[in-house]
Amino acid sequence: MKTAVKKTEQEWKTCLTPEQYQILRENGTEVPFTGRYWNKKDNGMYVCAACGAELFSSETKFESYTGWPSFYKPAKADSVDTKSDNAMLMARTEVLCSKCQGHLGHVFNDGPQPTGLRYCINSAALDFKKKEVRKK
Ligand code: FE
Repeated sequence: MKTAVKKTEQEWKTCLTPEQYQILRENGTEVPFTGRYWNKKDNGMYVCAACGAELFSSETKFESYTGWPSFYKPAKADSVDTKSDNAMLMARTEVLCSKCQGHLGHVFNDGPQPTGLRYCINSAALDFKKKEVRKK
């Protein structure tokens, strides 16, 4: 497992907002339909709010009707790590940023083709970089 970005919890507390800290470092979950990105449809790249790593392209975003931004695959195969999460008496698979190990959300097996996966990600764990449209 590569961990390119390492900070102490105190350092994370100073560089993240309280909401970002609660989700990324304390495995929190934002209230559905309240985040910045669940309904966003612009073209671009969603990056880690903590370390800036590219995580999910808008090309793989789909409407999941859950109130959280949902993607069927990560930007690159090694953009995210997964680990089993049995908190709250549910067997789920946690999704983490592979670069800083920040908690992003969970992945489920009920997504659309071509992967059949649904990466259910907290808006607060993401920043959006709009795709520049080149002018001729
Ligand atoms: Fe990160």
